[in-house]
Amino acid sequence: MKRAALLLAGVVGSAAAQYRGPLFDAHLHYNDEACGHATTPAPECPHPLADVLGRMQRNGVRAIVANSRPNDGTRALAQARDQTRTAGVRVVPFVRLYRNRADYSNWFRDPSIVEMVNTELARGTPAGPYRGLGEFHLYDSANADGPVAKQLMALADEKGLAILAHVDDVAVEKLMGHTPSKGRNTRLIWAHTGIGGSPVARVDELFTRFPQLRGELSYRPGLTCGDGELCPEWRALLLKYPDRFLIGSDTWVNQRWLYYDELMQGYRAWLGTLPPDVAKKIAWDNGASLFGVPEPAPR
Ligand SMILES: [Zn+2]
Repeated sequence: MKRAALLLAGVVGSAAAQYRGPLFDAHLHYNDEACGHATTPAPECPHPLADVLGRMQRNGVRAIVANSRPNDGTRALAQARDQTRTAGVRVVPFVRLYRNRADYSNWFRDPSIVEMVNTELARGTPAGPYRGLGEFHLYDSANADGPVAKQLMALADEKGLAILAHVDDVAVEKLMGHTPSKGRNTRLIWAHTGIGGSPVARVDELFTRFPQLRGELSYRPGLTCGDGELCPEWRALLLKYPDRFLIGSDTWVNQRWLYYDELMQGYRAWLGTLPPDVAKKIAWDNGASLFGVPEPAPR
């Protein structure tokens, strides 16, 4: 009887232990098929501004790294000062390297991408200057040595821009090598912390070597086990580097917007199993301190 009561208390305890603080979505896309220009949802325009801001607001997402293909979606978010303020969402804009889908597999050797990036940087946004470059993809790590990849990495170091890169572990090393600081000062956010599932020991090695490397955790294979609990080796890694991880939605297709609530609830569930200070860092502080975003007022 006593044991049953204790077990029951444990179950109730874990449900109550959900992380309830603010979230910083450090990997958000607002691509053209979501339709930032539309005012009301329609079959061809399912996620106008009010829709996506509503999803962030009801999930306690108080800041986002915004990037989009093309950059118009980011600009739509950055321009909507009243709406984002009402929703309680701070927009941290990044320049995406993609005007269209063809750019995904060609940007690293196309000099017109550098021009586009420089034009956007000079233009800035109504939510302030761009703070980073990306997300960009390298499906073959050898392309990290492409001329445009080299130029943009040097530019990021020079201008203090963060980088959001969907790449493998080898490409992380190559990209870091192309910066003046050889990666020592380079604030590279590793999208998915390696979507191909780089072993935890390898992530640990790269985090040791590059003190400004961060890991974003969407789609990370092996992060959670069974019913959404953190796997033991990942729990240990998060506790070893509590200042280096970020969460993200990666709304790369519209379907991810449909599951935005579940994605954020999934994060809140495993964040709640960490010591409260570590949960708060991964959920909010690490992104906020990277971009100087103040603590949000409780709502
Ligand atoms: Zn993405």
